[in-house]
Amino acid sequence: MAMRVLVTGAAGFLGSHLTDRLLGEGLTVVGVDNLSTGDPANLAHLAQEPRFRFEQRDICQPFDVGAVDYVFNFASPASPPEYLRLGLETLRVGSIGTENTLEIAARYGAGHLHASTSECYGDPLEHPQTEDYWGHVNPVGPRSVYDEAKRYGEALVMAYHRSRGVNTHLVRIFNTYGPRLHPSDGRVISNFMMQALRGQPLSIYGDGKQTRSFCYVDDLIEGIILLSRSDEHLPVNIGNPQEFTVLECAQAVLDATSSTSELCFEALPQDDPVRRCPDIAKARAILGWEPHIALKEGLLRSLDFFKGKIGSEVSDCARLSVS
Ligand code: UDP
Repeated sequence: MAMRVLVTGAAGFLGSHLTDRLLGEGLTVVGVDNLSTGDPANLAHLAQEPRFRFEQRDICQPFDVGAVDYVFNFASPASPPEYLRLGLETLRVGSIGTENTLEIAARYGAGHLHASTSECYGDPLEHPQTEDYWGHVNPVGPRSVYDEAKRYGEALVMAYHRSRGVNTHLVRIFNTYGPRLHPSDGRVISNFMMQALRGQPLSIYGDGKQTRSFCYVDDLIEGIILLSRSDEHLPVNIGNPQEFTVLECAQAVLDATSSTSELCFEALPQDDPVRRCPDIAKARAILGWEPHIALKEGLLRSLDFFKGKIGSEVSDCARLSVS
């Protein structure tokens, strides 16, 4: 019988791509999402798929979808504006929600992979960031609702591994982009793509000299699948080590969209990390993984999705009113 897998946050950007990948391998997937930031449109193409079932539920309430062989825990608001808006929900899903998914894994003897984040490194003082670096995190700043939820989640996952023998995996995900990145969730690539396509100025926060390293979603999902099948229980960075300033990212978006939009400069959000770049030596060594899609290529692959969202303000408002 094909493996049966639970994906939480299945209607989100990464959860929906992961679901597609698992179904593509012949697995059966139960997708769960409370739709607080997820978008049912990301799963609409699976409406007739007999190996996929969707349940709208909040994983902070104990739940049971029946026996599963594997749990991918991807439920959480993930963009800064969304987790600032949903601070308490973000803390709960990273703690209580994550524990509920670990209980399911323990109950059925299933494997478990938790989506952690480069935010565990905070505003890092070491560069690039290796998994051994403990981070530089403001525990009470505005971003702490996300950073500390994810750090607690990592501690919880390790405790279930050490105390309950659950076969757990921790991926530290760096900035990722691609089709289904929500056009109005405030992240840099989605903001710039939509602004460029609409001919509006690109909003640079601060002086734009802060850096990020952008991984195309297909590369990221490949790394996650490999990690889920590995024997590694400690965190593994998955991201693209090519580092760009926000200004360079803006230029790449202008090139990909052939846009003549200008740049406008806005205030830098509090505790916005200055630099972020993964050291992926561990992923290379134990998974044989590295990304293949450069930013320029990934932006071109994302273009049709964002073009399709032009004029989607009405559905964006409808989405926000659900949460
Ligand atoms: N950023 C920006 N303009 C935007 C959105 C974001 O300059 O319209 C900057 C933001 O300040 C940060 C970087 O781009 O330095 C990445 O932000 P994002 O929200 O995508 O993710 P983060 O890495 O901060 O979680």
